[in-house]
Amino acid sequence: MEHCEVVVIGLGAMGAATAYQLAKAGVDVVGVDRYHPPHTLGSSHGDTRITRLSVGEGAQYVPIVKRAQQIWRELEALSGESLFEQSGLLALTSSPDFDPHDKSDFTLRTLGLAQAYGIEHEVLGAAQIRQRFPQFANVRDDAIGYFEPGGGFVRPERCIDVQLRLAVQHGATLHTGETVTQISSDDCGVTVCTNLRTLKARKLVFSAGNWAGGLLGEPFDRLLGVYRQKLFWFELEAEAGLEGASPTFILTHGRGDDKINYGFPALPGEGSMKIATAQYHTASLPDLLDRTVSAEEQRQMYESQVQGRIAGVTDRVVKSAVCAYTVTADRHFIIDEHPSLKHTLVVSACSGHGFKHSAALGEAFAQWCIRGWTDLDLSSFTLQRFQGQRST
Ligand SMILES: Cc1cc2nc3c(=O)[nH]c(=O)nc-3n(C[C@H](O)[C@H](O)[C@H](O)COP(=O)(O)OP(=O)(O)OC[C@H]3O[C@@H](n4cnc5c(N)ncnc54)[C@H](O)[C@@H]3O)c2cc1C
Repeated sequence: MEHCEVVVIGLGAMGAATAYQLAKAGVDVVGVDRYHPPHTLGSSHGDTRITRLSVGEGAQYVPIVKRAQQIWRELEALSGESLFEQSGLLALTSSPDFDPHDKSDFTLRTLGLAQAYGIEHEVLGAAQIRQRFPQFANVRDDAIGYFEPGGGFVRPERCIDVQLRLAVQHGATLHTGETVTQISSDDCGVTVCTNLRTLKARKLVFSAGNWAGGLLGEPFDRLLGVYRQKLFWFELEAEAGLEGASPTFILTHGRGDDKINYGFPALPGEGSMKIATAQYHTASLPDLLDRTVSAEEQRQMYESQVQGRIAGVTDRVVKSAVCAYTVTADRHFIIDEHPSLKHTLVVSACSGHGFKHSAALGEAFAQWCIRGWTDLDLSSFTLQRFQGQRST
């Protein structure tokens, strides 16, 4: 039996941030991960993640992302690594179904939130979109754009790597390549069994991403769904001039999840642009995910999302990846104490939009371990909201 103050299970986006913040605060923390983060088997790979202050998913996220952006900058200063790039964030709707009063439209929601919270932004009409962003020269005449100059992307693998390295420098112990198999608790603390050891701690932060439902069982296995997502890097046309000159974007071109895509700046020297969509209709099991992207999937992606919508991009996919979301029925996070395991905070379902918040959430989870409450208001992420609901 090994003893420590806090165990963190899962050292991806959430766990790496938590382990770092705990170690920095002088807490004796042990982190465990079944793989060797950063890795390509969870929810935190694929080079880039969008970050924006106007979080169209809901106002409750705005203070969290604000704090996270400050922490990325602190981590950059400490590590010398570039983690957060303010490429600018363009959300745009160019859709035959566009209704300027539609409160569910992602661009309009983002715009409304920016106005309410005083977030710096510009509103663009079709002519301005075409003139400033020639890759969107084909937008409809009634297109609307939201441009947040401070938005952009973070580098997920680097963020995880930097925080884990700093955690170790501050005294954290990390056991990677080691799988947690069992968790129990009593009045004194928690007991965590891995395939190699037994750990006893005062507190547990559980951040196992896609695997949370399988390991925790009821109610999490019923509330969480795992959804395979595909990422595509499309080769640019040689003359397109997009490298280093394009923003991070979210393009709505119709109604429904399959009519939204997002993408990242063509990074200097890479010659390609990463473009993706999100799907919530076919759930998978994390250990049975098909991790290859077929030629047919590449063709479909180009024809349904890129062709005629994003100029300067060819149909040639130079790289692809599969990554998976863990999602609840309302697509919001679960951050709450476990209903029966004592001293345990569960962090889950952050997939789809969690990375941008992870640095600040890690700081909050460390506060929960140390003093039992957090500076950030996390009350909208409780389990209670699912009472009476059956499954995703
Ligand atoms: C395709 C895709 C695109 C996304 N785009 C964005 C975006 O643009 N912006 C944004 O903000 N967010 C985005 N997200 C969401 C964001 O990336 C996730 O919310 C975040 O990375 C989840 O982090 P996590 O720590 O919960 O999970 P992970 O990073 O997957 O970490 C979980 C860890 O737990 C470990 N683990 C699991 N089981 C065990 C066990 N039994 N024992 C020990 N260790 C275990 C795993 O090995 C893993 O390392 C995206 C996600 C995906 C998949």
